[in-house]
Amino acid sequence: MKNRDTETSGTAKTGVLIFSAPSGAGKSTVVKHLMDKYSFLGFSVSATSRKPRGQEQHGREYYFLSADEFTQRINSGDFIEYEEVYTGLFYGTLKSEVERLSAMGKIVVFDIDVKGGINLKRIYGDDALSVFIMPPSTDALRERLVSRGTETPESVERRVAKANEEIGFSNQFDHIIINDVLDKCLEEAEEITESFYRKLK
Ligand code: ADP
Ligand code: 5GP
Repeated sequence: MKNRDTETSGTAKTGVLIFSAPSGAGKSTVVKHLMDKYSFLGFSVSATSRKPRGQEQHGREYYFLSADEFTQRINSGDFIEYEEVYTGLFYGTLKSEVERLSAMGKIVVFDIDVKGGINLKRIYGDDALSVFIMPPSTDALRERLVSRGTETPESVERRVAKANEEIGFSNQFDHIIINDVLDKCLEEAEEITESFYRKLK
């Protein structure tokens, strides 16, 4: 990617940094840390048909759409990719979001499920770096989901069951970071991000 700071949407080549992980592995924690640290990154706000939780705001964590609105946007061809990540709950990357960030000269950062991450890597090829955040164990993953306090017991078990399946795809990512000791994981994520930035310059 050349002249990232000056190019406009018509000519900019998009560099993308993809973070995927089983729910609860720590992907949002890692992405938030990197977003706070590096101004050359731009976070791709996804659309979802799930309801906001806690302090989440429309346009900041997600674009919260009704199920009908989400379906309409699919039919209009507005998504680069979308998945029914959990039964009845849709999540997707809007073309307009990536274009907006790319036009600003940002490296576009994705916090996305494992299938979506693999799809984006396929779409962006060498312009993308994909990173899998691995939990140290199933028990640690369950504990994190419980202690986050955002899921019902059923939802925790659903996410843990899905995690075992998702870990099977981890070898399709460019990097795997084990998130055991958080500081070490963040340091590794910084190294990967800085090296990708240098490569794109
Ligand atoms: P994800 O985005 O992958 O679903 P989160 O970033 O929300 O996961 O992390 C899940 C929970 O685990 C959060 O409460 C977070 O503070 C905590 N957490 C993240 N990394 C670690 C770690 N290395 N050790 C202990 N707890 C962690
Ligand atoms: P949560 O409900 O915990 O915010 O997110 C659930 C899962 O959906 C996470 O794994 C998250 O990374 C994923 N996700 C968020 N946005 C997108 C997206 O645009 N596309 C896909 N495929 N998955 C997404």
